[in-house]
Amino acid sequence: MSTETGHHDVLVIGAGIIGLCSAYHIKKDNPNLSILVIDRSSAPGQGDTAKSVAAVRDTFTSEVNRLFASSTIDFYKHVQSELGFNLNLELIGYLWLVSEKQFKGFEAIEDGMRKQGIRFRTFEREELTQLIPDLVLDPASEQSKIIGMDSIFKAVQGLDCGTVSPESIAKFYENEFKKMGGEFQFGIEAKSIRVDAKNRLDLPGEPYVWQDKVFRGVETNHGYISAETLVIAAGSRTPLLLDPIGIDCFVKPKKRQVFQIRGSSLDRLMTTKGFNEQNTVPFTILPKGGVYFRPVRGERSFWVGAADDIGRPFRFEEEPIAEESYYTYNIYPILSEYLPCFANLRPVNSWAGFYDINSLDSTPVIDRISNCILATGMSGSGIMKADAVGRVAAAVFKDESEAVLFGGRRISASRVGLTNRSVGKEEFVL
Ligand SMILES: Cc1cc2nc3c(=O)[nH]c(=O)nc-3n(C[C@H](O)[C@H](O)[C@H](O)COP(=O)(O)OP(=O)(O)OC[C@H]3O[C@@H](n4cnc5c(N)ncnc54)[C@H](O)[C@@H]3O)c2cc1C
Repeated sequence: MSTETGHHDVLVIGAGIIGLCSAYHIKKDNPNLSILVIDRSSAPGQGDTAKSVAAVRDTFTSEVNRLFASSTIDFYKHVQSELGFNLNLELIGYLWLVSEKQFKGFEAIEDGMRKQGIRFRTFEREELTQLIPDLVLDPASEQSKIIGMDSIFKAVQGLDCGTVSPESIAKFYENEFKKMGGEFQFGIEAKSIRVDAKNRLDLPGEPYVWQDKVFRGVETNHGYISAETLVIAAGSRTPLLLDPIGIDCFVKPKKRQVFQIRGSSLDRLMTTKGFNEQNTVPFTILPKGGVYFRPVRGERSFWVGAADDIGRPFRFEEEPIAEESYYTYNIYPILSEYLPCFANLRPVNSWAGFYDINSLDSTPVIDRISNCILATGMSGSGIMKADAVGRVAAAVFKDESEAVLFGGRRISASRVGLTNRSVGKEEFVL
């Protein structure tokens, strides 16, 4: 056992977007508590938060995801327009180009979306041809037949969706947390969580199965830190901390890759008019393989990825790298058939990170186990749900049954817990 280096009311493990939001909301509700956030990196938001494609949307199949995302996006709008802190939030929209079958999936959730105030607009094929002249609605090549590419039947644009700067969001929460007296320590890695008997008898081998357990603190690379409450917000590394102490958080790491594509043949697509004030093509999802692209106007490039699924492992790697062959054989054939303006362009840059996939339903897990709070399982959409997650974590911290999200919307905290879970499976994981 290492030397104790400090005791805090709350110790948050992870200064990614989720740890930052959780720390901020817990501190805001409990200003007198001492809260320390530790991270193995050298600064906030350097984990998967920095790897994201930084897009936000409220178009989900799960009602809970829609609620989390729409209230979080509303909060980001508030931060940017009313508090004057620039998050680079641009509502360029999310454009789902869908086959006839996929459109039925949208129709099935239309009512639910409307009831929750999610705004969207549908485009017919003729409109799409006019707005995006580069788009091939009916791929007919031999290759497209082999791939099984469907015709584009319609498009649905989520209107309160777009892009943002996760670095700026992280900065906002970091600043606000510090202003309230919250503390950070970087370069500190939690190696293990110390589990103890709630009522110690000082006998060898405690805790026994019949004893109630508490989590006293964490062993780190710089000594032991104890706390009254632990908040585990370690993203895709969360199972590395929880599996060894027998807590199943139902999170599995899945690698996701992003490729940056640039070329003059993309200029017209980049400056597409008719979808948004920015006069650019929205963040767009193609009907096959979950292939998507995001315009990055400042770089005059597109970030491209795919929602890979079966056949790709749930496996954690310390330093994930993007595989160019993944682009060549998985993404490129689909992208260049629907949008030949991408033909012959190769990635100029690439990176990879992990989704912390919640293997139950691809919806966040926020729960309390004794004095340990989990905030994990963002399943590839943590940036867009972070503020709501932080508010629920703060409600769970205070043992409140309901969390009040930005804008006054409420959710029963137990819905996203593990015991009385009621969230609906998310089908739109990109
Ligand atoms: C390629 C890609 C694209 C994505 N695109 C989007 C998108 O467009 N929109 C969106 O909303 N989401 C997107 N996501 C998902 C989003 O990035 C995550 O959901 C979000 O960043 C999760 O935040 P987090 O705080 O849980 O995890 P992280 O950002 O990974 O933060 C966890 C932190 O914990 C620290 N940590 C871990 N273990 C320990 C330990 N033992 N001790 C100390 N510190 C520790 C890490 O260093 C890290 O900083 C994407 C993810 C990827 C990989």
